[in-house]
Amino acid sequence: MRIRVAAEGAPLSAAIACVEVAVFSPLPGSFTYSWPEELGEACAGIRVRVPFGKGFRNGVVLRLLRSAPEGVELKTISDRLDVQPLYDAARMQWLDRVRRYYLATHGEVWQLALAWAAHDDHRRFRCPDIGAFEKAYPLLAGLFINKRALSLKKMAAGFVTAPLVHAVHSACHAGLLNEVIQKPLLEHSEGKPFELQLTEAQTIAVDHVTGAAGFTPFLLFGCTGSGKTEVYLRAAAEMIRRGGRVLVLVPEIGLTPMWIARLQARFARVAVWHSAMTERERLAVRQHLDHTDILIGTRSALFLPLPHLSMIVVDEEHDGSFKQLDGIAYSARDMAVLLAQQLNIPIVLGSATPSLESWRQAEAGHYQRIDLASRIAVHALQVKPKIIDMRQVDGPVSPQLQHALQQTLEAGDQSILFLNRRGYAPALQCCACGDVPQCPACSMSLTLHRKAAQLRCHSCGFSRRVPLCCEACGEPALMPMGDGTEKLDEWLTEHLPALRFARFDRDMVTSHTRLSEILAAFERRELDCLLGTQMLVKGHDFPHVTLVGVINADQGMSLPDFRAGERWWQQMTQVTGRAGRGDKPGHMLIQTRMPDAPWLSRIGESEAEATMHEELELRRMLNYPPFARWVRVLFSATHADRAVQAAEAFARRCHDLSDVMISGPMPCPLERVAGRYRFEVLLRDVSRQLLPWKLAALLDTLPVPSGVRRRVDVDPQDMM
Ligand code: ADP
Ligand code: ZN
Repeated sequence: MRIRVAAEGAPLSAAIACVEVAVFSPLPGSFTYSWPEELGEACAGIRVRVPFGKGFRNGVVLRLLRSAPEGVELKTISDRLDVQPLYDAARMQWLDRVRRYYLATHGEVWQLALAWAAHDDHRRFRCPDIGAFEKAYPLLAGLFINKRALSLKKMAAGFVTAPLVHAVHSACHAGLLNEVIQKPLLEHSEGKPFELQLTEAQTIAVDHVTGAAGFTPFLLFGCTGSGKTEVYLRAAAEMIRRGGRVLVLVPEIGLTPMWIARLQARFARVAVWHSAMTERERLAVRQHLDHTDILIGTRSALFLPLPHLSMIVVDEEHDGSFKQLDGIAYSARDMAVLLAQQLNIPIVLGSATPSLESWRQAEAGHYQRIDLASRIAVHALQVKPKIIDMRQVDGPVSPQLQHALQQTLEAGDQSILFLNRRGYAPALQCCACGDVPQCPACSMSLTLHRKAAQLRCHSCGFSRRVPLCCEACGEPALMPMGDGTEKLDEWLTEHLPALRFARFDRDMVTSHTRLSEILAAFERRELDCLLGTQMLVKGHDFPHVTLVGVINADQGMSLPDFRAGERWWQQMTQVTGRAGRGDKPGHMLIQTRMPDAPWLSRIGESEAEATMHEELELRRMLNYPPFARWVRVLFSATHADRAVQAAEAFARRCHDLSDVMISGPMPCPLERVAGRYRFEVLLRDVSRQLLPWKLAALLDTLPVPSGVRRRVDVDPQDMM
């Protein structure tokens, strides 16, 4: 049983016999299928459903082929999922560059790119006139009897023949079905004029950006509160006035209600995109994409085909969450630059603590640096962090910090405490024998969560009850070691009972709603203090905060990762930048057990330039990124020797690549994660011309042994 669909107006181009399809599978290469006449005119950039292996899969038409390859019997496309191409030629080329840069397969890259369109099942259709519908599409119409609207999913369940989606689209085209359109997620408004008078530095910045002719990357460098956002907004407004659209990328957690409120106050048609949205919400964004002036989202928003895109903004460009950790290890920031280049439009990367990568590009003259030197609120610049020696202090809070908290509370101001460790204590240790309970699956100690009475692994999620006695020696002598946010919570409750505070970490903030609630309560000043992990640091604007306390500045300073110093500095500077943003001066207290560490004197936005210069010189001397291009290839398996063998085979083949330095195989610093042993081969290219491209052929021809996972990380950010 198969429904024939009335031809879709346009004459079929008989010459197109077959198409090349990127099938959503990890297999390399693309696949050729024959194109059936009944699906109308073929075009590149539409999704199709194809028979693949024993079942069916979706894919994207990459190219039309004039003739079929000889001597092969081709399978036939079974359904057409889009009427129009999802991407234009420029974006398709861009995606192919993404694929080649990250050494991914066609299928992987398209699956990643089209995740935003993956929820077609939820599209709903309504039939205005069942009689007419029945005449043209008797079977399909049968499903609609006594139904007002049906989703594609429901239709698929009742409709056994293949080209269902195409039939639905054709019926829509003929006016026999109408798609149900969701309300826009953020209501369209009038948009208001800008009221603030820009400072001189801001005016220059806006003029530069809006005056850019074609592709121009800008590094907008200015401390927190220097008015960067105002620059983005003003430039965006000008681009939109000229008929363009704007994409704003923000880090994972930075997508705060504040950002959205600010956009909605200024622009008529705003859309937002992030990973915590429901499928319905995604569908709504997608349905209104053509009527969106400004789209703000996390890294995956990069792949939404916003039409007439004329400017991209990457806020907090140094943030690690622009880099995806699983699947294709792409950097949304870097790929945004590539997209801007492909579309020949300006892109603005903004930060108070730029990544060394971008800093270097600016130094080399590839990016245009724009400085917004000072804060709008003048007090902030006078703040100098105060270092507190914790070597003689018992407990998580020094008397100085306790005193400062008390005073801030009495003055009716707000404070922030930063401690980048969830749970009660990072480890439990036996005082009798020194044993520390480890995760059975990872090379990592277990974190104590006291209230839940559990030990948890922060790497793989493993948890178990807290043992009463040491499992190594049997003594009941287990003691918590170090401080986590839960312990700080307990300490504050006991020592500062009048302080109204909330804990802001992944254990307490489990949803977007919860996040908004806490931030709103803090904004309304129903809370005096927020204590939290790095979640707290990103992008939030707290005008009444006058005190920032860093509980343990030593954390993360000495990880075996060459970027540890850079990250630590960015984090400290971002945290301390939260103080004194309003019209009152701020205080920063930094607790440490290494008060003489040279990095401590570098904390703060005024030190940015010198710090980055120094660190960049160090990297240059060592030939580390950004002066070299690295590719890290990870092999993991449940048996260590399997992983080692695969890594060795790979490393041997790599020796054919001349001028590329090869280290390893060696165990990763985190040797075991979630029960898998991990080994790495690190490839380093000082010329930056060979990698990653040279590696493509080698990876394609070197099979991955069964039971082994291979992960290719181009420009790795995480060296653990
Ligand atoms: P950033 O993005 O660099 O942190 P913002 O653009 O958020 O800085 O600006 C910080 C604060 O200063 C905001 O409250 C903003 O409304 C205000 N602000 C920005 N530009 C101006 C200006 N030209 N005049 C007055 N206030 C401004
Ligand atoms: Zn674990």
